[in-house]
Amino acid sequence: MIHIGYKWINNHKKLHLWQSFLGLFYKHLKDAHEIDDFYFNLLEEASQSWDKQSSKRVAVESYIKLLEYEGRLHTEMECFLCHHKIEGDISLIRAYLPTHKECTHTLPINQNGLKELYKNKSSLFLSNKEIDRLWHILLEGL
Ligand SMILES: [Zn+2]
Repeated sequence: MIHIGYKWINNHKKLHLWQSFLGLFYKHLKDAHEIDDFYFNLLEEASQSWDKQSSKRVAVESYIKLLEYEGRLHTEMECFLCHHKIEGDISLIRAYLPTHKECTHTLPINQNGLKELYKNKSSLFLSNKEIDRLWHILLEGL
């Protein structure tokens, strides 16, 4: 059980985002026999930054750490659908699998911003629009 006693509990928007975020973890981990400390630490860390920056950015950055931890972070820029190299912008689909924007017709993410996110777990070079897109992909499941 994650105890949340932070001041953003009174911020309905942030609380709603937190409930969605936590729900994703519940679904992801509900069949696990033992839950690794990694997930508790990740949520603890996220809950502490939830009001210091955009909650969606914290969620996206945390998710990258999770993907990396689980060995599912696709840093090679090869399209999951057509298997050709991706030059320039990248459209991500569920589990942040990379695709060409022409292959999925979804909002592309700038490649430099994505590289910074993957390497340093920082969303600094991603626009709010890109973060919204990443948040929506996240809602499809971890
Ligand atoms: Zn493609």
